[in-house]
Amino acid sequence: MQYKKVSHVLFDLDGLLLDSETLYTEAFTTVCAKYNKTFTWELKASLLGFQGHECAEKIVKTLDLPITKEEFMKECFKIYEVLFPKVQLMPGARKLVEHLHKKGVPIALATSSSKDSVDMKMQNHKYLLNLFHHLTMGSSDPEVTKGKPDPAIFLVCASRFPDKPKPENCLVFEDAVNGVKAACAANMQVVVVPDPRIDSTLLQDATVVLKSLEDFEPQLFGLPAYD
Ligand SMILES: [Mg+2]
Repeated sequence: MQYKKVSHVLFDLDGLLLDSETLYTEAFTTVCAKYNKTFTWELKASLLGFQGHECAEKIVKTLDLPITKEEFMKECFKIYEVLFPKVQLMPGARKLVEHLHKKGVPIALATSSSKDSVDMKMQNHKYLLNLFHHLTMGSSDPEVTKGKPDPAIFLVCASRFPDKPKPENCLVFEDAVNGVKAACAANMQVVVVPDPRIDSTLLQDATVVLKSLEDFEPQLFGLPAYD
């Protein structure tokens, strides 16, 4: 397959640059267990890419928890405060973001998380956040009306580069099926680095599927190669 050249790159955060999905799973599992409910992988997979309140709503509804989504979020937040300061970057994340930044490729963050959540998770990785031209944080951004798989977040994020690139000139990095769908709906190419448990037939629309960010070859998309 021939890939189209791109000029701008948009990054998802959770599960792509940051090994945070395991921590969300831990928090959701703990809160659900408190009400004698099991937080399954199938439910987890269906939530990837959702905004915080969308996750809470779906979990409370699917497992019929005897609490409101606001209460669920509050209980999770207490666990996040303990877990998130320790979150690690995914293999290859720092190298890729630093490389594109150094070579002058415009890059931005397009995450479904809120600003507060990003601040908490990135407190030990602030250096990396400073390399992005801008941060689009869906859960706290009034212009991002819907979470992934809706394309809003990627379209809003691309529109905030000063030269306003066309969607087809943007490359998205994602780890989730909902993220791949959102990128495709935005008419952008998408590199996906999925959790290995994700059914590969759900990733057919991705431009490239990689095992690790370390395997990405920028020159395939007309971006500067590693030195
Ligand atoms: Mg993600």
